[in-house]
Amino acid sequence: MRLILVGPPGAGKGTQAQFLSAHYSIPHISTGDIFRANLKAGTELGNQAKAFMDRGELVPDSVTNDMVKDRLTHDDVANGFLLDGYPRNVAQAEVLRAFLAEAKTPLQAALELAIASDEIIKRLSSRRTCRGCGASNEAGATNCASCNGNDLYQREDDKEEVIARRLEVYEEQTAPIISFYRSEGLLITIPAVGTVAEITEHAITALGRL
Ligand code: ADP
Ligand code: ZN
Repeated sequence: MRLILVGPPGAGKGTQAQFLSAHYSIPHISTGDIFRANLKAGTELGNQAKAFMDRGELVPDSVTNDMVKDRLTHDDVANGFLLDGYPRNVAQAEVLRAFLAEAKTPLQAALELAIASDEIIKRLSSRRTCRGCGASNEAGATNCASCNGNDLYQREDDKEEVIARRLEVYEEQTAPIISFYRSEGLLITIPAVGTVAEITEHAITALGRL
C-alpha cells in the first residue's frame, strides 16, 4: 500500500498513521518527526529546518524534497509506505508524483482527514508530545499512552501564537493539494471525528475499497 495522509495540523494524522502503518505493515514516514529528530540530534538538516519550524512556516522545498526522496530509497519501502506531513504544497506533490512514476510505484490513495477549524485549535493547544516516541497525548497526562514514557512536552509550534500561523500556511499552501489529488482520482475523504479506534476503522474500510 502506497498512501499519503492529508489534513490540517491537529486532524490526527500522526496518531492514525501509527495504527495504519501497523495494520498494513508499511513504514510511517513523518517529515515533521524526521525534522524534530534532526533538531534533537543537532544535525545540519535540523539546523536548516529550525527557524522555519519555530515560526510555523514550511521548510524550503529543496531541503524537504531531497530528504523524502532519500527516505523513499530505503529497503523498508518495498512493501509500500505511509507519508504523513508530505507533500505539503502542490510543488512537493508534483515532485513526489514524478519520483514515484519514475520508480513505477505510483501512489494508490491520498487519505484526507477532515475536521472543523474550531476543533483544530482546541486539539493543538491541548496536545502534549512524547519526547521518547513522538506520540501525541492530552494535556494533563503524566505518561505517554503509546510508550509509557514520562517526558511529555508542548511543541514550540503548538503554542497559541504559532498555531494561527500554521493554520494560515495550511489554508494557503497545503489545502490546494486536496484538489490536486481529487483530480488525480486518488482522494478518499473521511471525517476525523469520533474515537481514535473509530477513525482507524473507518479509514481501513474506505481504503479496503481500493
Ligand atoms: P503538524 O502537526 O502541523 O502536522 P508536523 O509535525 O507535520 O506538524 O510538522 C511540523 C513542522 O515541520 C511544520 O510546521 C514545518 O515547519 C515542518 N515540515 C514538516 N513537513 C514539511 C513539509 N513536507 N514541507 C515543509 N515543511 C515541513
Ligand atoms: Zn511515547
